Amino acid sequence: MQTAIYPGTFDPITYGHIDIAVRASKIFPKVVAVIATNPSKNPVFSMEERVELAQEALKDVPQITVIGYSGLIVNCVKEYGASAIIRGLRAMSDVDYEFQMAYTNRNMLNSAETVFLMPSAEYAYLNSTLVKQIARHGGDITGFVPELVRKRLLTKLVG
Ligand code: ADP
Repeated sequence: MQTAIYPGTFDPITYGHIDIAVRASKIFPKVVAVIATNPSKNPVFSMEERVELAQEALKDVPQITVIGYSGLIVNCVKEYGASAIIRGLRAMSDVDYEFQMAYTNRNMLNSAETVFLMPSAEYAYLNSTLVKQIARHGGDITGFVPELVRKRLLTKLVG
């Protein structure tokens, strides 16, 4: 049974993340979305909140489970006996950072391959930071995140 790990900050989960998770679930029978604590990114949502939102957003895809994790991703890969690490590639601007990560992870653990997937074109420029900025300034984020995420984000950022 081939398992893929899909790691990220997911602060919060967007339709772009969901698009990649669903594509991964068509290739791998088991996909584990791993929500990293990532304190260096100063997340708006706690890890528990990000896990809950991702679980809700992905609940209709039975192959996908969501967990929170605070260690190195390669350790998580080992724990799950995973053979792949999924990452989304949007524009060329993602490439430099993603290659650094992929090569570093390969140096630490050669048994898993990083697999890059492209989202649907409409999500190619979508990221959580942008969504938070739009929400902070009262813009409409309906097309970017599921309804529960939209509500939680507005409560969190606007009150
Ligand atoms: P990280 O801090 O690890 O980059 P993110 O939550 O920002 O975490 O992203 C997790 C993964 O999801 C990354 O591989 C990222 O490229 C991908 N991703 C995020 N938004 C999109 C999107 N709109 N389309 C495709 N992939 C995306």
